[in-house]
Amino acid sequence: MLHKNITLKGFYNQMINIDNFKKKLLQEKEHLLEDAESDKEIRAPQELDQTCVGRLSRMDAMQMQAMAQAAEERRKNRGFQIDKALKRIETDEYGYCIKCDEPISEKRLEFDPTIQVCVDCAQGKF
Ligand SMILES: [Zn+2]
Repeated sequence: MLHKNITLKGFYNQMINIDNFKKKLLQEKEHLLEDAESDKEIRAPQELDQTCVGRLSRMDAMQMQAMAQAAEERRKNRGFQIDKALKRIETDEYGYCIKCDEPISEKRLEFDPTIQVCVDCAQGKF
């Protein structure tokens, strides 16, 4: 048989479009990096000491900086999740629940390609 070396897991990997998810993950990562780049100036503390903030008061500028820092924190976490998902693609583990090893539904992965657990585990059924 031609496909005798393909495991059930490998077979399932062919059923979900891994390349599609990989592309999505890489695209999102790129966006994160772009956003981080455009936010850089707001986050830089020395910017606040200069008068180049225009009409913004110092309080506003500080608030913006805090928001930009929180956004950066979220981006870092998201980037971390994306990297983990990409790593799972490389090791052929992508699309499987890290808790019970069952396949994660494609719809769920469409919703968030970094999801690591199946719907049952996410709801604490196991
Ligand atoms: Zn599970």
